[in-house]
Amino acid sequence: MNLPKIEDQDISGKRIFLRVDFNVPIENGIAKDTTRIEKTLPTIELLAKKGAKIIIASHLGRPKGKPNPEFSMKPAFDALEKLTSLSVKFSDKVVGAEVESASKALGNGEILLLENLRFHAEEEENEKKFSESLAKLAEVYVNDAFGAAHRAHASTEGIAHILPCFAGLLMRKEVETLTSLMSRPKKPFVAIIGGSKVSSKIGIIKNLIEKVDHILIGGGMSYTFLKSRAIPIGNSLFEKDYEVQAYQLIDRAGVQGIDLQLPVDHIIADSFSEKAKTKSVDKMGILDAWMAMDIGSKTISNYEKIIKEANTILWNGPMGVFEMDPFANGTIQIAKAVAKSKAVTVVGGGDSIAAVNKAKVADKITHISTGGGASLEFLEGKTLPGVKVLLSEGKE
Ligand code: AMP
Repeated sequence: MNLPKIEDQDISGKRIFLRVDFNVPIENGIAKDTTRIEKTLPTIELLAKKGAKIIIASHLGRPKGKPNPEFSMKPAFDALEKLTSLSVKFSDKVVGAEVESASKALGNGEILLLENLRFHAEEEENEKKFSESLAKLAEVYVNDAFGAAHRAHASTEGIAHILPCFAGLLMRKEVETLTSLMSRPKKPFVAIIGGSKVSSKIGIIKNLIEKVDHILIGGGMSYTFLKSRAIPIGNSLFEKDYEVQAYQLIDRAGVQGIDLQLPVDHIIADSFSEKAKTKSVDKMGILDAWMAMDIGSKTISNYEKIIKEANTILWNGPMGVFEMDPFANGTIQIAKAVAKSKAVTVVGGGDSIAAVNKAKVADKITHISTGGGASLEFLEGKTLPGVKVLLSEGKE
């Protein structure tokens, strides 16, 4: 995939509409985790160095098409100001005469961050007029929002039909890394898939089964797989509608000679709470009315052995309820094993990023994908509309 590069363009004095993914978690008006903003800094700094005037836009949360202070970009603006020495201004408008003149008043290398794009319903509707209003703010469009590329919205898709369009550095890195991971992984290739729901991961497992040597399953989704094999799971997470597919996937892995592993022991709890009573139990030991909240020590060591031998690792989704300390061990140990491995390691999905941060090993991972839903869809083999339009409309 050859995405059009912005590095080669003469953009001095030009206004750039830079779509980013500053959809960061906010607590009490402060951006709690600024990873996504930090990852976009190389693109922002490149554009500034080349003398462009940078209009930055993003969505944040789900304000459902209406202005709502709870979802303001202001905390992201405060974080960006702290992270860069460049001049950053804030516009509480997204489109219209006021923001058009503010964009024209920018000096070379200066930044104007717009308010939340999703304060306008037309953004998610990918409405043509709204795309045109966004396009009036700039002469060139750069998309660095890989995390929003699975959505065909005005700022991720519509505008690219109007302005000359290019990929930012983060967008290219994400697409290139995930593409090479899926097309030419160095074997053995190990996928570690966890998280709460089989329903949201079934697509990725089906696509991966064609490519990997081992699939290590953990987290809440394990229990639908186990129950499909008549193993008692008590009150653990279970998705009845996916039981048959889970059963079939285990068989399919067997037929294709793929090593699909499930947890063989568990940390169980008598309620979904940090203060619950807990027990460490073996294969068949999940008690009625109790729920499995983390993988146990035998499972951890089984998975560690396979991780150690890997040359490529993809990890998506935690091994247990890692947000609660009594159930974080499985996820933390797996994060450490992944970090220690000699393999090319790629971690994707919002919760997995939080997990590697909690295990303090983020700097030892080859690539941490900023796109939750986007990286999932990419790994499922789907074409992302935000990437597709750059390929079709962009000029190399
Ligand atoms: P996902 O968004 O599907 O990747 O799932 C992430 C969530 O799965 C996290 O919030 C975890 O707390 C949750 N989770 C992981 N393991 C379990 C489990 N055994 N039971 C319930 N929830 C779990």
